[in-house]
Amino acid sequence: MEASDQANQTSSLPARLFDLTGKVVLLTGASYGLGETMAKGLAEAGASLVLAARSKEPLEAVASACAARGVDAIAVSADVSNEDDIASLVDAAMQRHGRIDVLVNNAGISDMRGVPAENFDIDTFRRIIEVDMLGAFMLARDVGRHMLSAGRGSIINICSIMGSGANELNVIAYTGAKGGLLNLTYQLGCEWADRGVRVNAISPGFIVTPMTEPALGALGVSDYVASRTPMRRVGRAEELIGPLLFLASDASSYVTGLNLLVDGGTNAGNGYYQIRPGHHGWGAMLGAPTVGETYPGLAPLPDRLAPWAAGVPGIHYPLPAEDA
Ligand code: NAP
Repeated sequence: MEASDQANQTSSLPARLFDLTGKVVLLTGASYGLGETMAKGLAEAGASLVLAARSKEPLEAVASACAARGVDAIAVSADVSNEDDIASLVDAAMQRHGRIDVLVNNAGISDMRGVPAENFDIDTFRRIIEVDMLGAFMLARDVGRHMLSAGRGSIINICSIMGSGANELNVIAYTGAKGGLLNLTYQLGCEWADRGVRVNAISPGFIVTPMTEPALGALGVSDYVASRTPMRRVGRAEELIGPLLFLASDASSYVTGLNLLVDGGTNAGNGYYQIRPGHHGWGAMLGAPTVGETYPGLAPLPDRLAPWAAGVPGIHYPLPAEDA
């Protein structure tokens, strides 16, 4: 009896739906950051793991931590922008398991220099596109072939809220790459829908990782992000595990071409749901009865947020004098 059949006999329907026992998952960008958390979450769900990133030691440490949870986990060093590396990575997975049930395209790079579009250099632009979009496509293509011949599979592209529109952070290449990856997700989701292969995206909002730490931590941007996120905080890496298990497992068997935003409501608010400026007593100004506060007005912001003041209501435009 296969491990998945045994699990089916002993667990409840909700547990069975999200169970990955016996499924083979290829996850890129698994050496640290969100990928490390995802790898451990997938291991807890019972998946056999093929973990990829460029570096060796941190990746092997993550594979060991996953194996300690009782699953098969191997580390394969690969640069996702290199077509030969991708072929070797897919070969390694196929040789070990004979199939790949789930591909998670998580490897990605960004650029925190804050260079305006008109000055953005093409080498950096090309590198970001090669890793974030082309690399994900090459893997989807090569793994997709195996999935299509097996007649089943789930591909999950880790996009970003920045793939769905503009932002003020001067990351034009990243915005373009993630937007392209999102559209590839829609295209592949439809193109392969009637052949058993589902393709979906997870678009996280801001989460502290080695990629975002310099901005979120050191510059205090997490307070700025929180001020314009309906949930009023940045995300936690573990909060991606539930969405990931949903899309990887049979729980989402009729879901393809979805952009699952994990962003504390940011996209739903269209950028408008910022902390309410203290002086906006709209009702009182119009003589209408007030309906009570739904969220607190702007608190005084620390000095370290000064560079970000231009986008924060209440600082963006001046508050009236205290006695006005
Ligand atoms: P991170 O901390 O910088 O980790 C990136 C991972 O990708 C590492 O494992 C890195 O390992 C790997 N990687 C980078 N370039 C690679 C390449 N050429 N080939 C293979 N692996 C490569 O970033 P993160 O914050 O965890 O981000 C993970 C994914 O989530 C990215 O696609 C990112 O765009 C997306 N995302 C993150 C956030 C956020 O707030 N953190 C928000 C939205 C979307 P090696 O250095 O060992 O290769």
